[in-house]
Amino acid sequence: MKKTLYLKFILAYFIFGVFSFIIVTTFVPSMTREHLIWEKAEDLYVEAARISDTYAAGLYASETDLETVKDQLDSLAVYLDSTIRIINPSGRLVLDTGMTLNVEDEIVIENFDPTATGSAYYMVNDFFGNFDSKMLSVFSPITYNYRVKGYVVIHCDMLRIEESCNRMLNISYITLVILLLLSLIILIFFTEMVYIPLRKITYATEQYAAGNMHYEFQVESDDEMGYLAVCLNFMASQIASAEDDQKKFIANVSHDFRSPLTSIRGYLEAMIDGTIPPEMHDKYLGIVLNETERLTKLTNSLLSLNNLNTKGMLLKRTDFDLNSIIRSTAASFEGTCRKKTIAIEMILTGEAMYVNADMEKIQQVLYNLLDNAIKFSHHDSVIKVETSVKKNKLFVSVKDTGIGIPKDDLKLIWDRFYKSDYSRGKDKKGTGLGLSIVKEIINCHGEHINVISTEGAGSEFIFSLLLADSNDDED
Ligand code: ADP
Repeated sequence: MKKTLYLKFILAYFIFGVFSFIIVTTFVPSMTREHLIWEKAEDLYVEAARISDTYAAGLYASETDLETVKDQLDSLAVYLDSTIRIINPSGRLVLDTGMTLNVEDEIVIENFDPTATGSAYYMVNDFFGNFDSKMLSVFSPITYNYRVKGYVVIHCDMLRIEESCNRMLNISYITLVILLLLSLIILIFFTEMVYIPLRKITYATEQYAAGNMHYEFQVESDDEMGYLAVCLNFMASQIASAEDDQKKFIANVSHDFRSPLTSIRGYLEAMIDGTIPPEMHDKYLGIVLNETERLTKLTNSLLSLNNLNTKGMLLKRTDFDLNSIIRSTAASFEGTCRKKTIAIEMILTGEAMYVNADMEKIQQVLYNLLDNAIKFSHHDSVIKVETSVKKNKLFVSVKDTGIGIPKDDLKLIWDRFYKSDYSRGKDKKGTGLGLSIVKEIINCHGEHINVISTEGAGSEFIFSLLLADSNDDED
């Protein structure tokens, strides 16, 4: 399979060469020869007819003598590079520009038969055995008083015609060789532009099929081949990065499950074997409970992400009052806020503000954003939740004056399992999945979420939602 395309192309080139050669060496020579004979015969016939109408007719009408006619025909014969004869119907030579005829030695052409040409006016042969080589002989009858008195016959040596035929054929052969050489360019072009890139692409696909998704190759052309190579490279890199992501994801999940399990196990073993005395059990059981909470949270987050990832996630879109959802979500953090003496200030547009979205999922977005805001805020601070209407959208902002996010981390916070070093150190319950879930949910709604943050000064997360009425308008 591997080399057939190239072989096929070479074979096609070879067949093309052979057929061209056969045509140029068989049909072309015979056609050229036929054409040259016909053309010469036409020319000579015009001359022969002119002679029979003028000189020869004058001769038979006794208007001129044989000597004068011979002189004139001699020079014409030289001009035509041929032999002109006047022959009686019986075959006797009356005049021959090739020799001087004696009256005593009359020359008669044996078997002379002017009708031998049939309907044609010329023949190619040895003229009834009169010549040693082949001659083109053209006939024109001489009529006087409505009777055929003789014939003007012009003979032209076939060697002359063959020579000019060969000259023309040589031109054809040279043209053929040049054409074959030029068509080699097509072969080179095919090799460079199609075959070599195709081989690279085939090799690359073999590598991909074998699982080597990191294999990279280059086809430097900006045609379809180049485009195919770029697409293939892109596809492989996407698959490779998806594979890498998956590996990273599994590594992260395993790690995040293993550490709480290890500590739960450690504490439980220590309680069983008495390393932790019974009076301390309550304290450590509290820690174990915390760890199980973390595991539950992690599992729930993973499940949410998994559902969100399913393409065309089913959103239960309804029109609901976002203000009341904001208020109830904020209220659920009352206990935590009290512990850190954090106040949640709500600056909401209107008493009720109806949006069209999946209520439960937006509640989760608000929950995650507020959870982070509280988590990363200092004690005795204020978190602002603000809404504003612009055109047909409602913009929701959750702003804190906490630790902020370093500039370099701003792009990474949306990645799954991304946690800042601070978060890793202090917030053991953080999964690093909260913001990825938030982003997925907002994206599923066809909306956007952005973050503005200054390290040490605080962060503001702003997302948009479609207003309920405007959705009706759009429909
Ligand atoms: P988690 O909060 O569980 O660690 P998230 O995906 O919600 O995971 O957040 C990822 C990271 O983004 C956090 O570890 C933290 O570094 C950063 N981050 C998120 N929200 C804030 C915030 N309001 N202030 C400062 N950093 C934040």
